[in-house]
Parts: sequence; C-alpha cells; structure tokens
Amino acid sequence: MYWEEDIETMSRKKLEDLQLARLRESVKKASASVFYGDLFRKAGIEPNEIRSLDDIRKIPFTTKDDLREHWPYGFLAVSKDKLVRMHSSSGTTGRATVIFHTIDDVNEWTNIVARSMYMTGMRSSDVFQNMMTYGLFTGGLGFHYGAEKLGALVIPAGAGNSKRQIQIMQDFGTTVMHVIPSYALHLFSVFEEVGVDPGNDTQLRIAFLGAEPHSEKTREKIEEFYGIKAYNSYGLSEMDGPGVAFECQFQNGMHIWEDNFIVEIINPDTLEPVPEGEEGELVLTTLLRDGMPILRYRTKDLTRIIPGACECGRTHARIERIKGRTDDMLILKGVNIFPIQIEKKLMDIPGVGTNFLIILERKDFNDHMTVRVEVQKEFFSGDLKQLEDLRHRIGEELKSDILITPKVELVEPGSLPKSEGKAVRVVDNREE
Ligand code: AMP
Ligand code: ZN
Repeated sequence: MYWEEDIETMSRKKLEDLQLARLRESVKKASASVFYGDLFRKAGIEPNEIRSLDDIRKIPFTTKDDLREHWPYGFLAVSKDKLVRMHSSSGTTGRATVIFHTIDDVNEWTNIVARSMYMTGMRSSDVFQNMMTYGLFTGGLGFHYGAEKLGALVIPAGAGNSKRQIQIMQDFGTTVMHVIPSYALHLFSVFEEVGVDPGNDTQLRIAFLGAEPHSEKTREKIEEFYGIKAYNSYGLSEMDGPGVAFECQFQNGMHIWEDNFIVEIINPDTLEPVPEGEEGELVLTTLLRDGMPILRYRTKDLTRIIPGACECGRTHARIERIKGRTDDMLILKGVNIFPIQIEKKLMDIPGVGTNFLIILERKDFNDHMTVRVEVQKEFFSGDLKQLEDLRHRIGEELKSDILITPKVELVEPGSLPKSEGKAVRVVDNREE
C-alpha cells in the first residue's frame, strides 16, 4: 500500500523534527547562492538562527520575479559542474524561469513521483502512457523517470497526435495514462471518430490529471467516459514539477510530500499565515534540493489545507484542488500565459490601437482563445487586404510568443469596453 511506509506514515512529531533538520540544511545550502547570500546579508539572517520551524518566517518570500531577475544562475548553490538537468516553466518562449538539478535532486524528485503513482494503486505491472510534452516542461521527463523507477513499462508517447495515442493505447494495452485534463476531454470526440470505446476497447484503469486547474465535475466526466479512476496531480517547475502533491486512492485532497517541502498557506495581501484550514496562497520551501534550493516560494496558487487525518494512513498534509491564482496567469491547454505577454507583442505591431481583450472559450472540450484588438481607423476605410494582412501578422506574432494560435479579430478604435479601474483584459467563458 505504501512506497515508503516509514516516511509516508511518520508521526507528525517525527515528520516535523525531520523537516526542521532538513530546513536548517537547506537554508545553509541556499546561503551559498548569490541570491540568498545577498538576501540573508540584507535581512541580517544567519542560517544558524533557524532553530524551529516557525523561524522560517524570518526568511523573506521568494517570487517568480526574483527567479527572473537572477536568471539564469543566481540561485545556484553548487558549482555548475554538479548539475545534470535543466527544466523551465511551461509557456513563454521568452525568458522562462529555469531550474537546475544535480543528480541527487533528480533522484529525490523521481522518488516522490514514484511514491505518488504508487499511492494511487499503480504498480510495476502497469503500462504507462505519458501523453505530456517531453522537453523543458517537467510533466514529460518528471513522470517518465518516476514511472520507470516504479518499474512500469513506460511509453513516452509525448503530447498530441490523438489518433496515434488511441492506437498506442490499444496496441500495447495501456493501463495508466498521464494527460492534461483539457486534452483528456478533447480526446472524447477523437475516440468517437475512430469508433473506439475506451471503457470496453482499452485496458485503461487510471489517469493522472495535471498541469492545469480543473473541477471535480471535469474529473467525473473523464472517469465516466474512460471508465477509470482519475487522480489530481499538482506540481510546478520551481518545486521540481509533478510529484509535489498528489491524490491518494481516497481522492480527497492532494498529499504534499512534507519530507521534501515545507507547506505554508498565507493571506496574499497581508502575507501572514491564515488560520488552519482556511484558503490562501500556497508557499513552498524545498528541503532536499542541492542544486537550487528555493525558500518560501510564493506559488500564487490558491488552496487550503484540509484539516484532519486521511483514511489512507498517510500523515502528510493534504491540500485542496487548486482554486485559482492570485495573479492573472492563464493556463490554456496546459500552457501558462500572462496577458502582459500578449500586450507587449501587440503594442510592438504598427497599426495596433490601445485596447485589446482576450476571450477564452471551451468548445467541444477544447480551449480556444480569441484576441480582439482595436486597430487604427485607417484600416477600416482602406484596402481590405491591408486589414487581412494585419490580422495575419498579429496571429503569427502572438503564436511565436505564447505557443498557441489565437483567433484574431480586429475592431475599430473605441469599440471595446473600457473599464474604469484596472483594465479587464480577460473574459474567461470556459465553464467549469
Ligand atoms: P509549470 O511550472 O509550467 O509546471 O506550471 C505550474 C503551474 O501550473 C502551477 O503553479 C499551477 O498554477 C498549475 N498547475 C499545475 N498542476 C495543477 C493542478 N493539478 N491543478 C491546478 N493547477 C495546476
Ligand atoms: Zn490519503
């Protein structure tokens, strides 16, 4: 039932002692990096001062901007020759935040992914189809290594190519798949098109759904259509990637591996801890990372800790399904997009006016993005071809940056609604 019973079911007292010992080490390690070295000096923190878990609050938070500003090597706590792997956050082709791992880091990460999969009932006899993008994104290699460690037969199918995915599932008797929830929904129509009923014509029994927010309803739809159990998988590249928090067979919140991470939930406005069980922003600290320890990282993800013990016997805290974000990051088809990226691109294109609106919709279980852009009046009185060329150019430029092809609609200046306060840049009509 457990992958590492002694750790997974450790008493809270022992777990906290372990966390404290590891926290002290982690702070010491971090102080060797340019970023934390400076931060500790400025804040007057001595790594030895961390004597209790509460002392973590002496350390200032770390944000994505810090990672960007100290890109690429400012967080390294070891020399570069110790590194074996780089990953980054999904999405932008611009300066994505990058994370570096030593071989020990990769092994620890692999271990928590294996632990997570085992927790759902996956075993070495399973055939695992990983339908995630392989590459810088952590969902591909992270799961791949975890599943191999568990001993399953791994099919590194990668993302996309829907008909082939279904073919592979049938040919090799896939029993477990890892898939982005919106893609799992999208496949409904492809299954229908090729006349395959996943409940009867495949051996699928488990899906791991990760990388983007999804509702309980979406999970139910997926479970029903495929005739399987679907487990929520949460992670972020800054904290390794997948394996940070995962549902057990009771599907009631995601266990965060607290021997690897310290979990805090804060009020994003006051930055103070919220009372137990209340919703707030998830803040995580790595406990076992050598290459690039990160302390008190503000994930911007909103959740809460579910009070009480889990029926499975594991003592590690559970967080609830992610409710949303404290920033304006959108996740479309598993790709992270900030509206500011779109704004920057648009504003560099001659002819574009001052206002734009991003509209998100879900049609036939597929996410669609429309960008409605105000362009200069001349375009509407002149040659239609000019307007069409501009529309085409905007589409191409956006695609090169956000990796998704939006539908572009051009409108006359002043025709988009103006808000009095903060500009409303996004209308999200995707039903949940
Ligand atoms: P990345 O660093 O590119 O892997 O993106 C990480 C972000 O994806 C997280 O901070 C979350 O906002 C989102 N995310 C990942 N997994 C989930 C999940 N299971 N549910 C909701 N959001 C998720
Ligand atoms: Zn449990």
